[in-house]
Amino acid sequence: MNGRVIWTRPPLRRVSRANPCPICGRDSWCGYTEDGLVLCVRNLGDTVPTTPARFRGISRNQAGIWLLEGLGPTPPRRVSGPKPKPKKEEKPLPPPEEVDAELARVLDRLDLSPEEEAALSRRGFPPPIARELGYRSYEEERWPKRGKLPIWLPRGAGWVLAAPAGLLIPFRDQEGRLVGLQVRPRDQSGNKGKYRQVSAGGFPASVHVSRLGEGSPRVWITEGALKADIASLYTGERFIGLPGVSSFRGLEEALKGLRPQKVVLAFDADYGDNPHVRRSLQHLSEMLSLSGWRVRWAVWEKSLGKGIDDVLTEGHGGQVRIQASPPFAR
Ligand SMILES: [Zn+2]
Repeated sequence: MNGRVIWTRPPLRRVSRANPCPICGRDSWCGYTEDGLVLCVRNLGDTVPTTPARFRGISRNQAGIWLLEGLGPTPPRRVSGPKPKPKKEEKPLPPPEEVDAELARVLDRLDLSPEEEAALSRRGFPPPIARELGYRSYEEERWPKRGKLPIWLPRGAGWVLAAPAGLLIPFRDQEGRLVGLQVRPRDQSGNKGKYRQVSAGGFPASVHVSRLGEGSPRVWITEGALKADIASLYTGERFIGLPGVSSFRGLEEALKGLRPQKVVLAFDADYGDNPHVRRSLQHLSEMLSLSGWRVRWAVWEKSLGKGIDDVLTEGHGGQVRIQASPPFAR
């Protein structure tokens, strides 16, 4: 394993399905050594671990350091602990092909209206390209039948999407399959955030992989699918858009599928000012390093733009620097 793994005693191993993390119980991102030391990126000592263990502090890269109790050279997998309870509302989704087909049927019926076209144009995203990539306007159209996904609400004799009128943003996996939709409501007066997952409950958001930028040796990660698509259009490189700054569902699979030489984190210039966001980004970089990816950070002067898409559409791409350390103090 390469990457900036900081543990040097017995080799740090990645958790897997066969050897889940003894602290958080999950099968990805965390690491352990055969002599019972665990680096858990999800539990920084603030919740009870799934296996008896003592919290020893936080690593330089912001993973929780744990020492399993009563453990000699036994590998962590022999430790039995309660399995983490699955979240109640998360019913299994249909297979990816069916998710893709149902969401594609939704998009096929819709078009981009002048209102959303104008908004996309203002952001530097040409509407014909947005349409090609699956962007649509939603105006509370009704369908006679619902599908299998938890995205439908009954209305009258038919069904509507669980979304207000607005811009529908398609989320895709590394193979181009649709994995979810976000909506940017036309009415931004609510308090629910600029972007929302289209869900009637129980449809968790996954990361989005841009369709543009195929084969680029670097893969960039930013927050937001729209931002990712715009940035990808302007750089010709592949971008992954997180649905939220601490939402990583599908990220590991995406990177495994894309196999980049480097992963560049490109988050808004003001992110370092928010401690919660900073911690999420440190987790992200730790998770990526533990998995062996070479992590870099994209930085730019705040005056050039807030998001990477702003910087690029304004023609300042040449002033984006790629560096090994995060753009904020640890
Ligand atoms: Zn863990």
